[in-house]
Amino acid sequence: MASLDRLHKPVLVLNASYEPINVCAARRAVVLILKGVASPEEHSPSHLHSARHAMRVPSVIRLLEYRRIPHQTRALSRKNILMRDKYTCQYCHKTLPSGELTLDHVVPRSRAGETTWENLVACCHSCNNRKGSRTPDEAGMKLNRAPRPFSLHTSRHLMRLLGKSDDQWRKYLFY
Ligand SMILES: [Zn+2]
Repeated sequence: MASLDRLHKPVLVLNASYEPINVCAARRAVVLILKGVASPEEHSPSHLHSARHAMRVPSVIRLLEYRRIPHQTRALSRKNILMRDKYTCQYCHKTLPSGELTLDHVVPRSRAGETTWENLVACCHSCNNRKGSRTPDEAGMKLNRAPRPFSLHTSRHLMRLLGKSDDQWRKYLFY
């Protein structure tokens, strides 16, 4: 593997508590280790060589100091709402391509419903038409589950997908 590829390999970042919180490139992980901010927990089989020393490439690192993770670090966007809802209409449970989904304000905007993580869900056009400007109760429609902010749990789901190829990540992600 070329040295440059190794520097771009994804590395799982754990909080001091071993909770997975992020994924970064190997280059960044090495900088964090050299700065004394993180320690390597798992290594990939490859090495990085510089003029002075060789360093094993980490595959999992852990921050030495616990970092508080702010909620809602992800932007409220159509793409993120659809991703959170796994491209599934939250009323009829149909999974559809992005173009066939719309965003529904659970409490309609005309009724002072806000544009927030908790009030927006993925919705197919037919459910959206059926619901109109009514609340789910009024329309006799039931939400799949209460919408939540894009949470650490959701990010963990994404990290799981990313980490499928890396066995060393598994023990930190599948619990
Ligand atoms: Zn639907």
